[in-house]
Amino acid sequence: MQTPLKAVSDQAVGLLAAYYRKAQCQLELLAAEAGFASDEPRACIFKAAASTRGEKALRMMQRFLQRNGQPEQWLDAARLEQVTGSGYYRAGLQLSGNTLVNPRQLVRALVKQLPDNIALFEHSPVTALERCASGWQLQTAEGSVSAAKVVLANNAFIKGLGLAASRSVTIYTYAGVTSPLADQERRQVMGSGPWGLLPAHRLGSTFRTTEDGRLLVRGMYSYEQEGGNEVAEVLQASLSKRYPSLSGAQTLEHWWGGATSLTSNGAPVWGELQPGLFASVGCNGVGIVKGWFLGQALADLICGRPVADISALFGKAGWMPPEPFRKLGFLAVSSVERNLAGAEI
Ligand SMILES: Cc1cc2nc3c(=O)[nH]c(=O)nc-3n(C[C@H](O)[C@H](O)[C@H](O)COP(=O)(O)OP(=O)(O)OC[C@H]3O[C@@H](n4cnc5c(N)ncnc54)[C@H](O)[C@@H]3O)c2cc1C
Repeated sequence: MQTPLKAVSDQAVGLLAAYYRKAQCQLELLAAEAGFASDEPRACIFKAAASTRGEKALRMMQRFLQRNGQPEQWLDAARLEQVTGSGYYRAGLQLSGNTLVNPRQLVRALVKQLPDNIALFEHSPVTALERCASGWQLQTAEGSVSAAKVVLANNAFIKGLGLAASRSVTIYTYAGVTSPLADQERRQVMGSGPWGLLPAHRLGSTFRTTEDGRLLVRGMYSYEQEGGNEVAEVLQASLSKRYPSLSGAQTLEHWWGGATSLTSNGAPVWGELQPGLFASVGCNGVGIVKGWFLGQALADLICGRPVADISALFGKAGWMPPEPFRKLGFLAVSSVERNLAGAEI
């Protein structure tokens, strides 16, 4: 679920890279102040290709990064095997400057940094949103809140409040983890240190190591509805293909799914949707630094500060046809893309 390379101009990429660097620094600083330190600072983060088509895509990405002065390093099959303990991949592109984090720990650290004038209410979903004399009223099961300005950051769930229904679909994707690997297998898989692998094709599978010595796999997508046990089988198959003889990789201890919002052209639903009602949703499967940057930009907009030109950088989330055409379109595109992804799944 990455932005297609050719859709972005070199100038926009340069600007975005600078914005992202700034966002990453702010985020790291704030999280560090709360005592959060990535346990995996040495992690090798890279894109990897198992097919010739995937390798071509990586070469294209490498040229793109070089043109834009972004750090990268080509990894050959032997190096990839050394890093991951799997001989499955033929080429990789290391993306230095990226960090592997435990997202839950990061969010918890950021919560600790909330200023005193912010109250956080968890497990209290907003069930309705309506205009009122003072702005907007938000209804929950146990009460209501009204505010002159409201920001929606509920991603795929925005449709549940009756907004952006023609611009966002809910796509579930899934992750699974093995049990902690035995010492010898751990040395094979992460002996060179922790790593995170992104697929060369957007429908491919992601892999990473965890701090407690597990392998994590992410893959598969489903449309508007969370999948059942077949998900575990698909994730397991991807893992077993990479590690056919690693006994610790033959069973997943847990698997889970999560909702992401997909827009037709990868652009976010961002800005003032109605007077006093703001939103930054439509993550398109890419979260932390981009979400932080878009959130900061939205705060700038609301506070009347100079603001980055979000539609010039990302475009505007396009209109999607109603059901059943929308689902048919999604199924047709994903079936073509799955074929193209091939061995990267
Ligand atoms: C299995 C999986 C693996 C992923 N791996 C990666 C990865 O490796 N790298 C990456 O960059 N991204 C990854 N992503 C995507 C990433 O998780 C998202 O891009 C990111 O979480 C988006 O953040 P967000 O805050 O915009 O939305 P979300 O994380 O979706 O948060 C939305 C929030 O809104 C709340 N909410 C919803 N409805 C209501 C309501 N009615 N009232 C109040 N609150 C509400 C929800 O409880 C939730 O807290 C992955 C996603 C999944 C599911």
